[in-house]
Amino acid sequence: ATPMAIMVGTGRGAGAGVLVRNAESLEKLASIDTLLIDKTGTLTEGKPRVTTVAPAAGFNADDIVRLAASVERASEHPLAASLVAEATRRGITLQSVESFKNLPGMGVQGQVAGSDIAIGNPAMMQSLNIDAAPLEAAITQHQSAAETVVVIAHNGKAAGLLCIADTVRTSAAEVVRELKATGVNVVMLTGDSEAAASAVAKTLDIEYVAGVLPAGKADAVKRYKSMGRTVGMAGDGVNDAPALASADVGIAMATGTDVAMESAGIVLLHGDLRAVWRARRLSQATVSNIR
Ligand code: ADP
Ligand code: MG
Repeated sequence: ATPMAIMVGTGRGAGAGVLVRNAESLEKLASIDTLLIDKTGTLTEGKPRVTTVAPAAGFNADDIVRLAASVERASEHPLAASLVAEATRRGITLQSVESFKNLPGMGVQGQVAGSDIAIGNPAMMQSLNIDAAPLEAAITQHQSAAETVVVIAHNGKAAGLLCIADTVRTSAAEVVRELKATGVNVVMLTGDSEAAASAVAKTLDIEYVAGVLPAGKADAVKRYKSMGRTVGMAGDGVNDAPALASADVGIAMATGTDVAMESAGIVLLHGDLRAVWRARRLSQATVSNIR
């Protein structure tokens, strides 16, 4: 490989909206046949907002928002920020949290004013033996509308639902179409529920794997590589970092976390997914310069 050709490609990156951290990644981007892509913050804007607060019998909406936001204030997850914003919108004063615990890919736990609070996905409630059966119909309904549903439990009892929506990026459909047209298999990987994942995947007409824990994303990359695929992985979160590092080409969103950017060879500067195929064309041009 002539370093000059790579430098030219790298230099052109900024105009295409990409930062090339590693020239080899740019070169390999020309040959990927599989793109694994995170949902929240990558295919979606990563600006989640609370759409519905549905307290269980015996609880009220402001109380569950206060308890949820008081615990989530200690979390760095984008979903957590949406719950804190909802509390602010309602003019609710938050309380301090003790024994805060983060369960990656599931949710958070802590004590607020002596009560045990757990907030997370239905799978987390199941693992804590919290019965969410009375909320099941509402959970399914909101998940089918592509919303992320978190359950809040108060002293081991399901206290309600908080439904969160995040808009699919306007550039997502176009990029998926372009990539598929050039023979790239696009597969969404998400820690979110089957129903929420399926709703997004359907609008984009892509394959998906739902309910993936952070370690599972890296496993998925390795699985595709062991099948002989050349794998690109695009993501934004702390939970995407191991997968970004394992992929042939790691692609991080500049709108995401530092850890994700540090694990990737290519960074998309403006949260514009179209930069993936602009970078790919750049990559193809660079590779033909080398040869
Ligand atoms: P993704 O793969 O879509 O970026 P994550 O792996 O970060 O998502 O999270 C997977 C799921 O775990 C979320 O959809 C949510 O249901 C739950 N979850 C994770 N962190 C939190 C949190 N801080 N509060 C509530 N739920 C959470
Ligand atoms: Mg994400």
